[in-house]
Amino acid sequence: MSDSASPALAFSAAIEDAAVLIRNAERGVVLTGAGISTPSGIPDFRSEGSGLWSRDEPMDVASLSTFRTAPERFFRWFQPLAGQILNAQPNRAHMALADFERAGHVRTIITQNIDALHQKAGSKNVVEMHGTLQTVSCTNCFQQFKSTPFLQPYIESGDIPRCPGCNGILKPDVILFGEQLPQSSWYEAQRAARQCDLMMIAGSSLEVLPVARLPMQALDRGAHLIIINNTPTYLNVRADVVILDDVATTLPEIAKRVFHG
Ligand SMILES: [Zn+2]
Repeated sequence: MSDSASPALAFSAAIEDAAVLIRNAERGVVLTGAGISTPSGIPDFRSEGSGLWSRDEPMDVASLSTFRTAPERFFRWFQPLAGQILNAQPNRAHMALADFERAGHVRTIITQNIDALHQKAGSKNVVEMHGTLQTVSCTNCFQQFKSTPFLQPYIESGDIPRCPGCNGILKPDVILFGEQLPQSSWYEAQRAARQCDLMMIAGSSLEVLPVARLPMQALDRGAHLIIINNTPTYLNVRADVVILDDVATTLPEIAKRVFHG
């Protein structure tokens, strides 16, 4: 391609290339990160100037040790965020991925997000690497509950949610900093990555380990790689297709080509 090729043409060619790979995929896996949920109004604490997260250092306040020693700090910080996440709606990127799964092009979605927006969009096989806000568990008796009856009053009042059985503090089932990843999710994600014939990265900068290593496992076994993210990742050099753009604009475009040629 010459230097004078227009960016619009290059973009359109990349969309077409991605559509062909997805249409031919039989065991596609998608890895999604914060970038797919920002268009649904959920801030990404890693990007500069997203006010909600910068109010406190999330690595400190959203850590397991803070939760254990000063839960009121965690719950004060998490209050506005919990409301945004619980009430968020899936966007067109989530919808496109659900369509790919229904059509048999995608088998598994591995997500770093805790917002359940893939499930709300209709995706069935979702592996949540960082847990979910859909359930809470008692830190004392370990009973698990659906979140809404406990988190909705907390979002309104700020009062720490308590276990109806033993009055222990209820912890959202999200993985905090300093907390182990759920082992079953990790095994499932690795198995999916090793068996896939296509891996697509959608809205992840591949900066959080160990999830960021999953595409390497797919590449090592000969899978194709598509990367859609608005900043470059360490694997862009090894990808078949790279689209440096928002997933919410790109994925619906790709879906159009996949389903309507
Ligand atoms: Zn309890």
